[in-house]
Amino acid sequence: MTSIILVPLLPVSEELVHTLVTPLSDMFRTSITVESPIRGIVDNVYDYSRAQYNSTLLIKELLQRFDGQSKVLGITSVDLFVPVLTYVFGEAQLDGVAGVMSTYRLDDTIYGLPADNAKFFERTIKESVHELGHTFGLLHCKNFDCSMHSSTTVDDIDIKGAMLCGECLRKITAK
Ligand SMILES: [Zn+2]
Ligand SMILES: [Zn+2]
Repeated sequence: MTSIILVPLLPVSEELVHTLVTPLSDMFRTSITVESPIRGIVDNVYDYSRAQYNSTLLIKELLQRFDGQSKVLGITSVDLFVPVLTYVFGEAQLDGVAGVMSTYRLDDTIYGLPADNAKFFERTIKESVHELGHTFGLLHCKNFDCSMHSSTTVDDIDIKGAMLCGECLRKITAK
């Protein structure tokens, strides 16, 4: 199985990224390393007219820095978008090298709700599994319990499971 590199893209909490290592290595059954945090890379993809950060360009920034031997997931806490959508939780190259995800919209406080750390962490795991799943070639899954089920809102994320379903898992174990 291809190894995975997690890249903290500041200002995300580096500690949060480290807490993802065990659940992700259990899920993908491969070795996971955490890179030194990168500062400033998100500023390169800031879109002044939208006051958001372009996730597609962020993936390109990562591809310039890694050789493609491992899957690479950039994790940030800034608000990501792709031009056709209001926002995205993340984006990844299908069956490619790199993906990015953001914790920005996974935090209940941005919806005017009290902070819920357990829920925040659970959502972060689900979306990390989801974007990495895309890099391993997985498409969206119809199974509601599977983390490859597509999510438009945080409520969608809360409904789905934190694991890959048996079918998705079978598809990636050969990789
Ligand atoms: Zn997806
Ligand atoms: Zn599935």
